[in-house]
Amino acid sequence: MGKSENTPLLELRGVYKAYKVGGFLRKVKVNAIEDIWLSLGEADIISLVGESGCGKTTTGKVAVGLLKPDKGEVLYKGKNIWEMTKEEFKEFRRNVQMMHQDPYSSLNPMLTVYKTLSAPLFRHGLASDREEAVERIARLLRLVGLTPPEEYMEKYPHQLSGGERQRVAFARTLSLNPKLIVADEPVSMIDVSLRASILNLMLDMREKFKVSYVYITHDLITARYFSRKHLLMIMYLGSIVETGQTDRIIKEPLHPYTQVLLSALPEPDPRITRSKKLIALRSLDVPSLLRMPTGCKFHPRCPFFKKGLCDVKRPTLIEVESGRRVACHLYGS
Ligand code: SF4
Repeated sequence: MGKSENTPLLELRGVYKAYKVGGFLRKVKVNAIEDIWLSLGEADIISLVGESGCGKTTTGKVAVGLLKPDKGEVLYKGKNIWEMTKEEFKEFRRNVQMMHQDPYSSLNPMLTVYKTLSAPLFRHGLASDREEAVERIARLLRLVGLTPPEEYMEKYPHQLSGGERQRVAFARTLSLNPKLIVADEPVSMIDVSLRASILNLMLDMREKFKVSYVYITHDLITARYFSRKHLLMIMYLGSIVETGQTDRIIKEPLHPYTQVLLSALPEPDPRITRSKKLIALRSLDVPSLLRMPTGCKFHPRCPFFKKGLCDVKRPTLIEVESGRRVACHLYGS
């Protein structure tokens, strides 16, 4: 995998993934994601934001190699992961980890913290005996703020709070020294008061170990916080509709869907929230993936819909300024 220094750590190039859904007699193919492009270097962050069911998790699973795309390529350090040797693929899977949404179900209730954290260490040869595993796990628990570590090692998930469980899940993700973490709604199941501490912990790991993140969320507020100096990608019904620097998108959203998402965000100052103009959607219903709208997927809801254009022609993602891409006919696609 010896590529140049500029080779991205991970790239998705024109990725498509469809599922077959339906009953016993008739199955229908549904495109979960279409034409997804993404590129991340060392210590980069991309927040992937959209409503539930828009294809964010499928994108994450394709990125970590849990799902094989139907079309397009996933490259790790410039190499197509589906053309790797068994050894290369194993190394890729060790370096690119997924962190799941639900710490309740992602931790086995029958296993102590020690057992949960030692299993991947033994499996990947990072510890050869209990003594070595205990030493590494103690270090990991300290890193994620679970101290004193000895107190936590023999605990079961039900003996931990939601925030502690998510820290254990994060310690497990970190245990293999990943270069990239795909974090799928990592704070959505935990108390609002603990969210910032988990996100800060993840950002600390980026500083310390140059870990890159794909942060998947439905919540633009945490995305704004987490990828403030990095990239934001807005997804709608399986497609990227806008992408660019987070700060720039927040300041001046271009795609109507991004504008709607931002107009609904509460501001810290209630006076600003009250004075904000809410953008009214033409319809509140999210179309079904089974009946994908013609033309622009957002047209049944878009307040700027142009009949004869938006319902006929699908806009492509075009660069409207350096590093800024939008898929909308308002911007000349
Ligand atoms: Fe709205 Fe048309 Fe742009 Fe789609 S292409 S977001 S319907 S203006």
